[in-house]
Amino acid sequence: MADRVGELQAEILSKSDNPVRIVAVTKGFGVQAVIAANRAGVDDIGENYAQEMVAKKEMLANVNPDSKSRWHFIGNLQRNKVKKISSHVFLWQSVNSIPLGEEIIKRCKEPQLLIQVNMTGAKNQGGLPPSEAPAFVERLRGIDVNVLGLMTIGDHGDREATLKHFQNLRTMANSLDLLECSMGMSNDYDLAIEAGATILRLGTAIFGNRDED
Ligand SMILES: *Cc1c(COP(=O)(O)O)cnc(C)c1O
Repeated sequence: MADRVGELQAEILSKSDNPVRIVAVTKGFGVQAVIAANRAGVDDIGENYAQEMVAKKEMLANVNPDSKSRWHFIGNLQRNKVKKISSHVFLWQSVNSIPLGEEIIKRCKEPQLLIQVNMTGAKNQGGLPPSEAPAFVERLRGIDVNVLGLMTIGDHGDREATLKHFQNLRTMANSLDLLECSMGMSNDYDLAIEAGATILRLGTAIFGNRDED
């Protein structure tokens, strides 16, 4: 696994002009995956489910109290789960609605967040419509919330469209003076690098296939 991370990092270096952070997505994998990621030098850990994240973080604290893992929440989160994980999240990557954003601001002291934008228009994907995202970013900034950037999910199966969506997200981030673009998963991270991603969210590319999917 460390080899795989090394290869990915070499690929990033060869293809990107800017630093790109790998977030190891451990959903569906046990705490051993987090430990392996840490050992390979990846301390940024992505989780999709509130319960799974908290459970894994507690297990990690038992087996490896020195872990420097930073937890990124990347899934579709119900508002009533925010409180449960508010003290655990380093970066809220999937702020996919205005009410969710407001709940996070209410529950967390100084949250760092990304606004998820639905670039594909797919109904089963979360995110603010591109037409609404900029105004929300400006409003959050107006009340001193630390919006670091934007996040999106590609159009699985259509690489050409995905590259366009990623480029459009980068353009939107630039126009808002936002540094971070979290885009690219295992099947399209190369396109994300090409489009100027700063954060890749990688699960299977690092750990192999999940059993239950
Ligand atoms: C599961 C997931 C990932 C990682 O997916 P892989 O295909 O395993 O790389 C990234 N981002 C989000 C939002 C996810 O739900």
